[in-house]
Amino acid sequence: MQETPQNPYVIAARALAPSFAERASRWDQNREYCWPNLADLVKSRLMGMSIPVSYGGQGASFHDVVLVVEEIAKACTLSARIVVEANMGGISAVMAYGSEEQKTFCAPIVLSGDKPAICITEPDAGSAANDMTTTARKSGSTYILNGTKHWITGGGVSRLHLIFARVLDEDGSDLGIGGFILHHDPERGVVAPGFEVVRHERTMGLCGMPEAELRFTDVVIDETMALKPPSGFGRGFADLMTAYNSQRVGAGTIAMGVAAGALEHAIRYMKEREQFGRPIAEFQGLQWKLTEMDAKVHASRLLLHEASRTLGPTGFPDMTFAARAKMFASEAAIEVVSDALQMFGARGYGADEPLERMYRDVRMFTIGGGTAQILKTQVAGKLLGIRTPQTRDGYSR
Ligand SMILES: Cc1cc2nc3c(=O)[nH]c(=O)nc-3n(C[C@H](O)[C@H](O)[C@H](O)COP(=O)(O)OP(=O)(O)OC[C@H]3O[C@@H](n4cnc5c(N)ncnc54)[C@H](O)[C@@H]3O)c2cc1C
Repeated sequence: MQETPQNPYVIAARALAPSFAERASRWDQNREYCWPNLADLVKSRLMGMSIPVSYGGQGASFHDVVLVVEEIAKACTLSARIVVEANMGGISAVMAYGSEEQKTFCAPIVLSGDKPAICITEPDAGSAANDMTTTARKSGSTYILNGTKHWITGGGVSRLHLIFARVLDEDGSDLGIGGFILHHDPERGVVAPGFEVVRHERTMGLCGMPEAELRFTDVVIDETMALKPPSGFGRGFADLMTAYNSQRVGAGTIAMGVAAGALEHAIRYMKEREQFGRPIAEFQGLQWKLTEMDAKVHASRLLLHEASRTLGPTGFPDMTFAARAKMFASEAAIEVVSDALQMFGARGYGADEPLERMYRDVRMFTIGGGTAQILKTQVAGKLLGIRTPQTRDGYSR
């Protein structure tokens, strides 16, 4: 089920795709952030397209964003990640749960070309995110932030950060986990004292997208920038994590888009490459493989589209549908891209074709944003009616 190109957002995304595809190896080989693509995304109004019209966005639906992400991911994985984070994830949490002041503050920054960073993972709190030790201690009308986050996408280039931290009252009592909006933009003279980019990871794929370790030392955040869902800090993490379900559908869609792109390359090459006096497209073994690849892409797309239609009252997909779709799409995409690379023989292993980059890029999606194992545990928990522990204490009980 391919959506028709009448959708104006899809038309805009398809118009950008050829130049994005052409530049993709540049970001990969130079490990360079794709600023020109970002400028194009701003011009095409795809940055923040989901932000309501009243805040300067286009008020595009969640499903529209999913369609755009697939088109962009076929051409350039990095740019697709930017589209996801500029419409789902952090900014969507602010638009759903934020105060009027927070929304009017954050929306223009994203619309002008910022991909916000979402900061959850810590060195000792990965899958067990609830074990985070970064703290935000109340002090008068401010919160004082201390701790370390790592593998933060966009760390060092993002201006907006949504930082998850354990909220402590003035007397040190634990109030739960909350989100805090930090603005850091040294180029424009906005510096958050105590905020530090400690180092960048050297990654296997998705090269050009910074993955950073961030340190917060007595960073002062005004209480107006505390993102407190209606249920308060106690239940706040669960609420804020519902926003993460949207990012999960986004990440699954990137993986599916890369796989769909790889499938298109495989079809082209099967017709083009001749061995044994005929196009390799005539070999039935390869035809069957191609059909399996096609079925995996279609099944992934259906699960992702289904998840994108399960939006709750705050506009985020259902957790189980999102987990199922991301888990399936990310695992299937690794298989599809690997099979596409195989169709190219030695050529697939070389850098003249984009397959080797796509293969390295797509490998990440069973890890970041909830590993495939954790997502499977979530879905199984739903099927079995078992509540899965999310902290070390939960396992020891
Ligand atoms: C490229 C990239 C970008 C990222 N971007 C961000 C970002 O922007 N913001 C952010 O906050 N984080 C980000 N992350 C971090 C990501 O969310 C974590 O890597 C992920 O949650 C897993 O945590 P971990 O790496 O510490 O693995 P661990 O939790 O240490 O897991 C190690 C292994 O054990 C398995 N495992 C752990 N617990 C269980 C269990 N209960 N049952 C079965 N298996 C289990 C895992 O599946 C994994 O295979 C990013 C990661 C990558 C690779």
